[in-house]
Amino acid sequence: MTEIIEPLRGMNDVLPEEARWWRRVEAAARAVFARYGYEEIRVPLLERTALFKRAIGEYTDIVEKEMFTFEDRDGDSLALRPEATASICRAAISNGLVHNQRHRLFTLGPMFRGERPQKGRYRQFHQIDAEAIGYEGPDVDAELILMSARLWRELGLERVRLELNSLGTPESRAVYREALRAYFGASASLLDADSRRRLEGNPLRILDSKNPALASLIANAPVLGDYLDAASREHFEGLKARLNAAGVPFVLNPRLVRGLDYYSRTVFEWTTDALGSQNAICSGGRYDGLIGQLGGAPTPAIGWALGIERIILLLKELGGSAAAESPHVYVVLSGPAAQERGFALAERLRDELPWLRLETGLGGGSFKSQFKRADKSGATLALVLGDDEIAAGAVAIKRLRGEGGQEQCPVGALTARLEGLLGGDGVVDGATTRRQDRGP
Ligand code: ATP
Ligand code: MG
Repeated sequence: MTEIIEPLRGMNDVLPEEARWWRRVEAAARAVFARYGYEEIRVPLLERTALFKRAIGEYTDIVEKEMFTFEDRDGDSLALRPEATASICRAAISNGLVHNQRHRLFTLGPMFRGERPQKGRYRQFHQIDAEAIGYEGPDVDAELILMSARLWRELGLERVRLELNSLGTPESRAVYREALRAYFGASASLLDADSRRRLEGNPLRILDSKNPALASLIANAPVLGDYLDAASREHFEGLKARLNAAGVPFVLNPRLVRGLDYYSRTVFEWTTDALGSQNAICSGGRYDGLIGQLGGAPTPAIGWALGIERIILLLKELGGSAAAESPHVYVVLSGPAAQERGFALAERLRDELPWLRLETGLGGGSFKSQFKRADKSGATLALVLGDDEIAAGAVAIKRLRGEGGQEQCPVGALTARLEGLLGGDGVVDGATTRRQDRGP
């Protein structure tokens, strides 16, 4: 027997039943983005490793141990993108989008991090990502957060909370960094290997440690808020005031520093108590220095990213369901003449009723086996076309749900009859709604 090729650890197949959830989340996000004027951008999965090193920072979990990096045939070091912000900034610079311009962008797609796979943590996972480039004020910070809050409402997502912090400017953070270095330096013997390395490289990263042995040391460390410069403080107040005015509750978390080096001023994270240690569902922040750091004209910007898998886990945890999009109509064809006419009829119905989900019984077979398949498909109605119907210039309509029953319908009147039976209002915002449970 030929050996089976196993899938890679932490890389999941999304089967049709699961994909329904994905479509629901993605469609809700796209709709929300449209309402706030965010436009889609798509960027490559592969970039030069140097992009992520420079953007995310050398002393981060992502760059130190999570990136999928390899050399191509020319000996260039490439990496699968671990997140989207660096790539979008690179794209903004490459395409001249940063000189005195403003862009509100979103993207969605796979990200890659070599983490230990577990529930809610995978090696290929998927983000929906929003970035506002060229915006300085706290108004855009607030709008981005309101946009995420609206998405939770659209999805019916509960048990989430917003944590907020300000990291200040690089200058004020430099002062804080020295205070941290002094504090952790005094207890260097208690630190683990990661933290000791970060003590020199970037002591802020120690606050990000998930090692429980360091929890109390971290809890007593100096607080960044005490080192904020006046302008950052004002910016943060502006954000908080807007969130309060819009009625979006938040908690201040002075320990929230985020796992990437490029953030400045506003950082935030939406967390949930329903997913164990994979509790972050969406995180983001302002990165005013990043585009300059990547060689572009200095441009303020802010963004967030949510993890699609975690959002779906949470929706399921909350008892949601993703409805199957069963066909409205299953076409049963009997005999060679019906096979040909049936195809033309099915195409005509798809032309005339754009909302209609119609499945044709491909492969023929006996009436009985075709009806079995029709029933299994979840369709509301079966359309039956055989020699008798062709002779009569009609189609039999059989109700598969509820009371049952059958009627003959002249071919010319079929479109109107289906519209009547199925409601005919299936088009909402260009998308078809599920109408299987309405029954005829
Ligand atoms: P965590 O602290 O859980 O590792 P993170 O801070 O590394 O999260 P970000 O880099 O901010 O996460 O990515 C944004 C979002 O992407 C997270 O809030 C989370 O929902 C999701 N995410 C991050 N890493 C993974 C992963 N390995 N598998 C699935 N989802 C992930
Ligand atoms: Mg992480």
